[in-house]
Amino acid sequence: MTTKSAKKKKNGFRKFWRLGLEECNTQMFDISPDGELVVREGNYQYNIFDIVKKYGTPTEIMFPTIIENRVRDLIETFNAYIKVLGYKGKFFYHYAMKANQTKEFVLPAVAEGAHLDVASANELYLVKRMIEQDKFNAKIRVICNGPKTDKYMSLVEELKGKGLIVVPIIEDFNELERMAKFKGEVGIRVNLDVKVQAHWDKKFNRFGFTEEELTKLGKVRNLSTLHYHISKQIETIDGFTKPLKRALSLFAVMKEKNPGLDTLDIGGGGGVPFEKKKHFYSGKSLISQIVKTAKKECDKLGIKHPNLIVEWGSYVAAPAQITIYKILAEKEVGNKGKVKWYVIDGSFMNDLLDTWAIHQKWHVTPVNYMSTHKLQPVWFAGSSCDSDDKYTAGGEYTMLPRLADCEELYVAFFDTGAYQDALASHHCLLSSPAKLIAQNGEIKIARRRETSEEVGKMFGW
Ligand SMILES: *Cc1c(COP(=O)(O)O)cnc(C)c1O
Repeated sequence: MTTKSAKKKKNGFRKFWRLGLEECNTQMFDISPDGELVVREGNYQYNIFDIVKKYGTPTEIMFPTIIENRVRDLIETFNAYIKVLGYKGKFFYHYAMKANQTKEFVLPAVAEGAHLDVASANELYLVKRMIEQDKFNAKIRVICNGPKTDKYMSLVEELKGKGLIVVPIIEDFNELERMAKFKGEVGIRVNLDVKVQAHWDKKFNRFGFTEEELTKLGKVRNLSTLHYHISKQIETIDGFTKPLKRALSLFAVMKEKNPGLDTLDIGGGGGVPFEKKKHFYSGKSLISQIVKTAKKECDKLGIKHPNLIVEWGSYVAAPAQITIYKILAEKEVGNKGKVKWYVIDGSFMNDLLDTWAIHQKWHVTPVNYMSTHKLQPVWFAGSSCDSDDKYTAGGEYTMLPRLADCEELYVAFFDTGAYQDALASHHCLLSSPAKLIAQNGEIKIARRRETSEEVGKMFGW
């Protein structure tokens, strides 16, 4: 069936499910001739339906290659615009480990030239492990955010002793006092007085100094970096350039008393087109606007172009993983027309917790029966006994094949690589999904699905 019309039909379904599109981060995804979801890595191909039939569900599948590609693209794009626009500072990408600390996420990022941003002593401990085990380049730079406990600071000192560049970020007056004796370079965090359009906007920000406090501070010992972090999932480019301008004018003031200040760290917040049907800015346009704005502002202020750091976590990690569930049953939704509940063999509350906690929207496709015209609107119900364990796409619905027409039906949730695993839980003692790594044409099990015995053990049984 390789006729023209069959090809056209397949392209139609690929478009419908938003696969193979750079602007959706689905370049590697496609549909097999049998209507199954496949992922291509160069000339390797993973048939997701075959994989879940073999390994069962619920299952997370992560693709280190996607991390590699995203980190490489990010760094290359920044460097290209820096060159083209004549920006004089350097660019450093720091992967925010808290987005996903799994080894298979962190190591490919480092391999492509990412530096790191850690949020706790335990995340910094992972850096120590990497150095001991993999002997990576000691020139790697580590930014340390989060409250600097004694344990955290002694690890900072220890790694600094091993030749690493570890830059603690001072977040309040208490830390400022404690850091007075620290011998290496430090950063300081400002809570900028700007509001941006973001998925998770906070009215009150408890992190960092106010702008006024910083301008009054005067000289800070060994200060190299001014840092801010506005929000996650910033929704417009303006949400990056507005705070950037404000931070640069503060930078100029602080530079008068701190000549060693040479780096501006603009934090996380690089967005992911989770929904895929709405227009979202591209990484390229975002990065070009950041570099353009930085250059223009610095030239206006008459200051040397600082080095730029971004700590985008989700931007790199989210698209590198999908989560697969099997549909167990169909139920009626009262008063909702044709919409049906599809019950999954896992839990949104436990495993895709942004769904119910911050009303994240996901792109969902079938894993099999992708080339069928007979679709119906559905809401998803999780398998825990909690009424919040559901996904309604924000009160809308998802179109999926009719369960009655399928022998068995699996669904894929896209972009689940960030902020899910480390926050996951065991409500109703459901087992966490298995975690598979797909790389070099092979499937590796990173985490087995928990047995009843293992789950019971966590609760003292
Ligand atoms: C959480 C966090 C990040 C990463 O945020 P993303 O939204 O995942 O890009 C970066 N920097 C700091 C200080 C953070 O707290």
